[in-house]
Amino acid sequence: MKSVRKACRKSARERLKFPEDEARLKWLPLLLEAYSIIDAGVLHAVGDYEKTKRRKLACKKGCGNCCGTHSDIPLYPLELAGIYWFCTEKMERPARQDLKERLRAAAREKRNSCVFLDAAQGGGSCCIHPVRPVACRQFNVFGKPCGPGEDPFFTRRGDVLTPIREYTDQAFLVMLPFYGIRDEARKERAVKEGLLHAQAMNLPSHDWARLLGVMEEFDSR
Ligand code: SF4
Repeated sequence: MKSVRKACRKSARERLKFPEDEARLKWLPLLLEAYSIIDAGVLHAVGDYEKTKRRKLACKKGCGNCCGTHSDIPLYPLELAGIYWFCTEKMERPARQDLKERLRAAAREKRNSCVFLDAAQGGGSCCIHPVRPVACRQFNVFGKPCGPGEDPFFTRRGDVLTPIREYTDQAFLVMLPFYGIRDEARKERAVKEGLLHAQAMNLPSHDWARLLGVMEEFDSR
């Protein structure tokens, strides 16, 4: 689709940039470009949905209802690397201290909400927002916000955004060199056959204890 390719090129030009970190961490530009493509795809799909269905996006800043409810959020190894980098090297106080507290609490007892959901201000915000996973970026709800404990994917599927496949495929294409897949034909096949899905972990049930250790080690330098 020509308009998708154009939007992907534009988003790649306008993506978040961390020149020093990107020069050091060769995988980081792949992740940032892939996320910019996903965001462009979400923008495109939301616009289409609002125009055709005449319903407004319910998601807005400060609403973390879905982050407190969802127990199944795919997380890929490159995304995990991005979260470690961001939390360890970029996150500042007070968010940094708050996250470390939540990570300590998560090691003691099982949590229902995502460990990156910062509910300190009431409602909630994502403390890793610039590097939140593809699944979080693509989960968007129309009409009314999720109710307490509600997963609209099951209660009102028609209100949940269906991402545009071409953007998702393009984003995964961009990420593939991280997984050692560089040859164009292999890349096309990997996306078509969804080869990366076998590598997905689950964000809410992931053991984040190591992240706490890495952050503390960085802070003690
Ligand atoms: S990573 Fe961020 S956006 Fe995703 S579930 Fe956790 S708090 Fe929500």
